[in-house]
Amino acid sequence: QILNEFLDLKGNMRVFCRVKPLGASEKLRPPVASDTRNVIIKLSETKRKTYNFDRVFQPDSSQDDVFLEIEPVIKSVIDGYNACIFAYGQTGTGKTYTMEGLPNSPGIVPRAIKGLFKQVEESNHKFLIHFSMLEIYMGNLKDLLLSQATKPISPIPPSLSIHADANGEVDIDNLVNLKVDDFNQVFKLYKEGCRNRATASTNSNSVSSRSHCMIRVSVTCLGAPERRRETNKIWLVDLGGSERVLKTRATGRRFDEGKAINLSLSALGDVINSLQRKNSHIPYRNSKLTQVLKDSLGQDSKTLMLVHISPKEDDLCETICSLNFATRAK
Ligand code: ADP
Ligand code: MG
Repeated sequence: QILNEFLDLKGNMRVFCRVKPLGASEKLRPPVASDTRNVIIKLSETKRKTYNFDRVFQPDSSQDDVFLEIEPVIKSVIDGYNACIFAYGQTGTGKTYTMEGLPNSPGIVPRAIKGLFKQVEESNHKFLIHFSMLEIYMGNLKDLLLSQATKPISPIPPSLSIHADANGEVDIDNLVNLKVDDFNQVFKLYKEGCRNRATASTNSNSVSSRSHCMIRVSVTCLGAPERRRETNKIWLVDLGGSERVLKTRATGRRFDEGKAINLSLSALGDVINSLQRKNSHIPYRNSKLTQVLKDSLGQDSKTLMLVHISPKEDDLCETICSLNFATRAK
């Protein structure tokens, strides 16, 4: 039933918000309150501002609650749509928790992959599934599965270039694209990809937040000429932290990294905003992020944005920025 709702509505964009739980030592009575559709910000004793969403996951929402709302998107990929799910928000608000999750509390990525295999098994058609993983760091694409390439790797990694064919289908030349047969195989690749991130060396959250981590799962339906497209894909994206670098005291490389993230996130916001307004020109070209996602954002693709916010007083400025970003997407 949720599925039909998603497919029938005119727009294909859903904007959800997830509010992180407060830590045990954190002050009670945070300035952020929520119900299943609204986030209410207490600006002063007398002033409140309400932001509404297609769905709000409150601090006590579980990974199950989140996935229940995501499942229809997974199903739509098998049914012939492209899709894109991305986690947006300030560093530390739970993007990776939502996307990857923890070993005892798996997030969207493992559940979506399991879900896809299950759907394929239950389908009357035969499907091939392929997996790719890349990172966008300082405005450049980096293949995270180069170490798994089946062809011998040259000392200089082949350059990844994005191209769109006459039908507007996007592909990335030279990106390693591995045929996968079961969940465990994919999950091993995913872990390997995480280890290969440019920012993995220090492994600190603040550093991994300076790049976008993108997973592509594509499904090819064999022997079904009636389908609009042979291959559909879903992108699962853990975006770089949205905190504004000018407000932090970052300098040097850290500043440049933050600036690159800020630029691509604002390009993403501009694309989504233009799509929602049905503008004739959609500014996909302004960032690598939006070029890669071009055929999975807008048109008949299913797009789901999960905006993450912190309920803490100290984070209020960034929280309001994230809520404003989400509002532009509607
Ligand atoms: P981000 O990826 O946005 O920087 P993380 O996902 O790394 O943030 O989250 C920061 C910390 O908060 C992690 O330790 C994570 O496990 C925890 N956390 C985030 N969201 C939740 C949640 N909804 N429930 C429990 N723990 C969470
Ligand atoms: Mg993270």
